[in-house]
Amino acid sequence: MAANSFLTDPRTVQKMYIDGQWVLGSDNQTREVINPANGEVIGLVTEGTRDDARKAVQAARRAFDKDGWQESKARDRAALLHKIADLLEQRVEEFASLDTLNNGKPLRESRYDVSDAVNQFRYYAGLCTKPHGITYDVPDEMQSMVVREPIGVVGQIIPWNYPLVMATQKIAPAIAAGCAIVIKPAEQTPLSLIRLFEIIDQVGFPPGVINLVLGAGETVGAELAENPLVDKVAFTGGTDTGIKIMKAAADTIKKVGLELGGKSPNIVFADADFETAVDYALYAIFANQGEVCSAGSRLLLEASIYDRFVEELVARAKTIKVGPGTDEETEMGPLITEEHMNRVLSYIETGIKEGATLLCGGRRLMENGLDRGFFVEPTIFTNTTPDMRIVQEEIFGPVLVIQTFTAEEEAIELANGTRYGLAGAVFTSDVAKAHRVIRKLRAGITWINTYHPTYNEAPWGGYKQSGIGRELGTYGFEEYLEIKQINVNLQVEPSGWFQKR
Ligand code: NAD
Repeated sequence: MAANSFLTDPRTVQKMYIDGQWVLGSDNQTREVINPANGEVIGLVTEGTRDDARKAVQAARRAFDKDGWQESKARDRAALLHKIADLLEQRVEEFASLDTLNNGKPLRESRYDVSDAVNQFRYYAGLCTKPHGITYDVPDEMQSMVVREPIGVVGQIIPWNYPLVMATQKIAPAIAAGCAIVIKPAEQTPLSLIRLFEIIDQVGFPPGVINLVLGAGETVGAELAENPLVDKVAFTGGTDTGIKIMKAAADTIKKVGLELGGKSPNIVFADADFETAVDYALYAIFANQGEVCSAGSRLLLEASIYDRFVEELVARAKTIKVGPGTDEETEMGPLITEEHMNRVLSYIETGIKEGATLLCGGRRLMENGLDRGFFVEPTIFTNTTPDMRIVQEEIFGPVLVIQTFTAEEEAIELANGTRYGLAGAVFTSDVAKAHRVIRKLRAGITWINTYHPTYNEAPWGGYKQSGIGRELGTYGFEEYLEIKQINVNLQVEPSGWFQKR
């Protein structure tokens, strides 16, 4: 079946899902959704307003506080999550195609994303019925214990680079924990999440427990961060937006979970397995067009292997097949929007102006029918210095910068030399060195002799300005739970602290 046969007719306005109903935005505006591979309109969605976001928050609050969701049973929540997983699993190709058409990423990547999403629902369905309390041996005749309770109403704000899986990795643990949700996809990529809500509607959540709002970050997103009825805001996106969200959330002491940007180092020592290190250096930066928060966007090369490594790296980068994600042969798709493509191209110009040497790429690709899409060649810079903007700032596209080092300490210093701390990798055949260096990296997600594989079982998140908190695994579940201590007097008699007179 052709990938675009899964699209809804772009003349039909797709709706939000608030309080168990499909609704249009309150001021009847719409937004066109674009296929970045050819600029075509592939969907029309309603544009929500602050007022719509407020209604969704109120519905979630009511569902949580008054309609019984707060007291819902873990086993029932697990059953709902399992149902979502089963229905999603039957529609992998449809969801993968939607993400590819909307985001641009190659189909093979979208298929991974959907199967990850299915697994996230199953993982948290399993986790939510498992024991999660603790008791303490305290000095008095007292039973002291801790129980976990859902944090309440959570606002969730999603970026465009993994439209489905960034949403499901927030929805699944929040539901498992017993929270009520208002979620907002990125303006550019709402299609797969709207489709997921058809499944959510089908499995039978009580109205208001899980709401979908559409619209701009500055209005609908900001409302989720500011609204006093929201207990926690979970955000994935750029660091500068994260700063705004944290400030907005401060006024109501909202809990925040922030999964932000990165400029992650991939350190290759001379004793690394050569073929493996070259292969992963390419995968680290060019997977998902470089639009990956944890991309290995800085390659730190030991000087003694520089010539041989760079020759092979550049030769292979030049052969990467760039094209529409719907083409099964495609290895790298288009960037998300024309605006973002221009931002990436302007970083490339900045790099040249800063004096870095462009080894390959650097251009928008217009040949072979790609002229209407937002394609940029795999691009590699060398002769960089640590103070250059292309070394310090997240470009979020297929642009690799190479830095060189001669000593282990120097590699560590360069690796940690940005405001970010999301991810990092070390390639070497010396086990002790690998561990030494990885322990010195100020980053939350790290690899030895590989790059990128991550698992729903393991925590995801950053040090420094790459974020606060963790998603996925048991840590990601904890983020949606409050901790309450309960002290039970086992000897019910007056304390005698004040004399009875
Ligand atoms: P973005 O920050 O521009 O937008 C992300 C989301 O925030 C969108 O839904 C947007 O509408 C919303 N938003 C924008 N302004 C807002 C505001 N003032 N208040 C509330 N919400 C607002 O990010 P993007 O361009 O969609 O995504 C790219 C960024 O996301 C990159 O920096 C990337 O590193 C980061 N990212 C991080 C992770 C991670 O796990 N750490 C994962 C994916 C992407």
